[in-house]
Amino acid sequence: MDNLTNNLLKYAQVVFPQPFRNLFTYLIPDELLGLVKVGVRVVVPFGKRTLTGFVVALTNSTEVKEKIKPIKDVLDEKPIFDEKALKFYEWISEYYISSLGEALRNSVPYGTEVESKKKVVADKIICRKLFDSEKRKDSLKAKVLSKLMDKEINSVSQIQKAVKNKNIYSVLRSLEKLGAVSIIDDVIPQRVKEKKIKHVSLAKSIDEIYNTIPELERKSPKQIVILLELISQKEKEIPLQQLIKKTNTNYSVINSLVKKGFISIYEKRVERVYSEIYTEKSKEIQLSERQKYIIDKIGNRISSSEFESFLLHGITGSGKTQVYIELSKIALSKGKDIIILVPEISLTPQITARFFNHFGDKVTVIHSRLSLGERYDAWRGIINGKFKIVIGARSALFAPLKNLGLIVVDEEHDQSYKQQEMIPKYHARDAAIVLAKLNNCPVVLGSATPSIESMYNALTGKFTLLELPERIDNAKLPIIRLVDVTIEKKKKQMENIFSRILLNEIIERLGKKEGVIILQNRRGFATQVFCGDCGEVIICPNCSVSMVHHINKNVLKCHYCGTTVPVPKACPVCGSIALKFFGTGTQRVEDELGFYLPNVKIERIDSDTIDRKGKLSEILNRFAKGEVQILVGTQMVSKGLDFANVTLVGVISAETTLWLPDFRADERTFQLLTQVAGRSGRSKSEGEVIIQTQNHKHFVLQKVLMNDYKGFYENEIKLRLQGEYPPFTRLALVEMKDENEKRLKAAINEFFELLKKYKKGIKLTPPHEAVIYKIKGSYRYQIILKCDKKIDSSGKLMRTALLNSYVEYIQKSKFKDIRPIIDVDPQSII
Ligand code: ADP
Ligand code: ZN
Ligand code: ZN
Repeated sequence: MDNLTNNLLKYAQVVFPQPFRNLFTYLIPDELLGLVKVGVRVVVPFGKRTLTGFVVALTNSTEVKEKIKPIKDVLDEKPIFDEKALKFYEWISEYYISSLGEALRNSVPYGTEVESKKKVVADKIICRKLFDSEKRKDSLKAKVLSKLMDKEINSVSQIQKAVKNKNIYSVLRSLEKLGAVSIIDDVIPQRVKEKKIKHVSLAKSIDEIYNTIPELERKSPKQIVILLELISQKEKEIPLQQLIKKTNTNYSVINSLVKKGFISIYEKRVERVYSEIYTEKSKEIQLSERQKYIIDKIGNRISSSEFESFLLHGITGSGKTQVYIELSKIALSKGKDIIILVPEISLTPQITARFFNHFGDKVTVIHSRLSLGERYDAWRGIINGKFKIVIGARSALFAPLKNLGLIVVDEEHDQSYKQQEMIPKYHARDAAIVLAKLNNCPVVLGSATPSIESMYNALTGKFTLLELPERIDNAKLPIIRLVDVTIEKKKKQMENIFSRILLNEIIERLGKKEGVIILQNRRGFATQVFCGDCGEVIICPNCSVSMVHHINKNVLKCHYCGTTVPVPKACPVCGSIALKFFGTGTQRVEDELGFYLPNVKIERIDSDTIDRKGKLSEILNRFAKGEVQILVGTQMVSKGLDFANVTLVGVISAETTLWLPDFRADERTFQLLTQVAGRSGRSKSEGEVIIQTQNHKHFVLQKVLMNDYKGFYENEIKLRLQGEYPPFTRLALVEMKDENEKRLKAAINEFFELLKKYKKGIKLTPPHEAVIYKIKGSYRYQIILKCDKKIDSSGKLMRTALLNSYVEYIQKSKFKDIRPIIDVDPQSII
C-alpha cells in the first residue's frame, strides 16, 4: 500500500505484549493521520489502563459496533518492523504458542524509559510564532509550545511533567517537521552520554620522520617503535591506550614525542557501538580447495536469492569462520545484509574480532550485555542502513535489516540458542531457517559437533551437508587420554582432585612455555556441604538444590536463586560440627592448582569471575601473550577459543554433565568434551587432552576418545528412536509453578483434563514434579507431550491441542493466575 492510501485509513489494529491474543481496533484521530503506520508502537486506552501496543494493520472499515476509542499517541517515527518481519513474528507466535504481541516484544531493542530521556531542543522564535497562531491556548500543542518558549533544552519527561500529559510524542514530531524543535537521541541516558577518548596521530610528514630516524634510533629506540606503528596504521590515527599496549611502551615515551613535535594527542568522540577489546592481527589466507567448494556452493544461493539450508560440519580449527567471512564478502558485493549468530558474544571474541578486521564499521554487535544506549545506537544504525553485518546472540535474529542475504548460525548445537526465560520460548536456529525462507536466502548452520536433529535433517535430505574434515595446515587433532580416577585412586596416584598423570603433564607443558586449559563444568568451591554424622545435605531454603560453597567470601550460595548464607558452624539438623565439603567447583580447581604450582599465573573463567564486559577479552589477551599460563573454567572455556600455543586441555571430571537425568545428557557431554578438546593443538605443535572420569567405558567417552562423531551419532540416534525422543518424536513441555502446592496441583490437573480432551494422537505424561521441584520458593509441576512425527509431521496437531487447552483454561479456570508456560521443542526436560 502506498503512503497516499495509507494516509486515508481510519482504523488501526493493535496487539499488546500480553498473554491475550485478540486484535483490538482503534480510531486514528485526525492529528495522527499519516503518523500511525504498520510497525509503529502506539499508546492507547485499554479499559481503565493505558497500554503500549503494536500496529499490525490499518483498515478503512470495521465491524466493531461499540464506540471505538482513539489512539492517544505514536511512539515511533519509523516502523520498527515491516510486513515481511511481521510474517516472521506471526510464525514465531503460532509455532511457540504465544500471542503475537509477546512475539513482537522482541522487535523493541530498548525500553520506553529511553524515549522519555530524549532531549528536545527548541527554536524559541519559531515556537513563539506557532504559539501565537494557535487558536486554543489550552490545546496540548499550545501547552507544549509554551514550555518550549520558556526553556530551550528539555528532556521529553520534563515536558511531559510540565503539560501533565504523557502523550506528547506526536505533537513533538509534528513540531519537528515544522522546524520548531529537534529531537536528539544520542544524549539519551546520562550514563551513556558521548564518549571521548585520547587519540594519537603523526604531526609531521612521513618523509620528515624517516629523515630523523637514524638519529633517534641511537638515543631512544622506543620512540621509533611508536613512530613506525603510526606510519603502518591505515587511518594514521590510533587510540592512545591501544598504541601503548601494541608497542609495549608507556606514556612518557609518547610524551617526549609530543614535545619534539612528532605526534599529537587529542580527544576524539568514539561511537557508542560495541568495540571488541580482544584484538588479532589479520593474516593473508589462501583458501583450501574444500573451502572454495563450500563457498561456491553457498555463494550461488546468495547470488540467486534462493533459500537453502546448509549444515557445515567442520571439525574444530577447520576454517569455518573463514568460510563465513568469504560468504559475507559475497553477500555484501550483492548489496545484501548478513546476520551471524553466535552462542554468546562475550565467549566468542575471536570471531567478532575477525569480522571487525575484515569489515570494519559495517559490522555491529548485539548482545545482552550492551548498555541501553549502545543497543539503541546499534538498532538505529541498522534501521538507517549504516550497518550491514550484525553479529550477535539469539536476539540478533530480530535486527531490522532490510535486505537479508545470508544467515549464519555458528555452533548451531549450542543450547543458548533456545530462549528459556521469556515467552515465546523460541529456538533461534530453527527460527533462523524460517527467516531465511521468508527472505529467499541461504542459511548456514555450522558446528564441529552438530546437534542430533540437524545431522538427521542433513542425512534425510532436508539440509545440504557440507564437510570440512581436516584442520588447517594439517594440524593434527589432539591425542586424547581417558584417566579413570577410581583406578588411579587404588594405585594411589591421585593428589586430591588431580591424577598424577594430569599434574605431571601440566608441569611438562608449562616447562615448554605452552598454554594449558582446565575444564570443570561447575562453579564455586565445593558443590555440596553435608553433615558427617546425620548425612543431611544443606539445601537452599527456596529451591530444592544443594548450596555451593564459595571460598573467597566463605559463603554458601544457591546457583538458582542467588540466596547467600554464611557457612554454618554446625549441622542445622543434629548440631554436629562434623560438616564435610564434597564435589569440585572451579574455585577448588584453581585453589589446588595454585598449591601444586605456586609460581604459575592462573586465571579462572566462569560467571563468577567474568562479571563485566571486556573482562574475558582482557584475560584472553594476556593468555595469548603468555602472561597467563593456565585458564581454569566452566564450559565458558570450551567455546570459540583459538590459541596456537595451547597444547594441553585437562578435564577434571567428565561426569558433571553425563549423569543429568535428561535425554540430551549424552549429546551435551559429547559436545562439551569434543569442543574443549578442540582447543588443544591448533597449530604445528601437537596437542593433548586428558579427561578424568569415573567410568572410562561409557560409550560417550569412548566416542570422544576416537574423535568419532559419526559413531556417536549412530549410537545416539538409535537411543532417540527407542526412547521416543526428537528427531522422531515431537516434544512439548508444559510447566506451571506457584508458591501454594495445593492450588498448583489443582491447576495443573485442570489443565491436564483439557489436554486430554483435545489430545488427538498425542501422548501425555500425567502431571509430575519437576526434577528440581522448587525454584525461588515456587513449586513446579510439568506435563510432557509427545507425538510421533509420522502422525504429526508439522506439529500442527500438538500445537492445536495446546492452544485450545490454553485458551479454554485462561477463559474458564479459577486458577487463571497460574499460567501454563508452554515450551515447544524443549531443550531439556528437567
Ligand atoms: P573454525 O572456525 O572451524 O574453528 P577457524 O576459521 O577459526 O576454524 O580457522 C582456524 C585457523 O586457521 C584460524 O586461525 C584461521 O585464520 C586459519 N585459517 C582458516 N582458513 C585458512 C586457510 N585457508 N589457510 C590458512 N589459514 C586458515
Ligand atoms: Zn547432622
Ligand atoms: Zn535457591
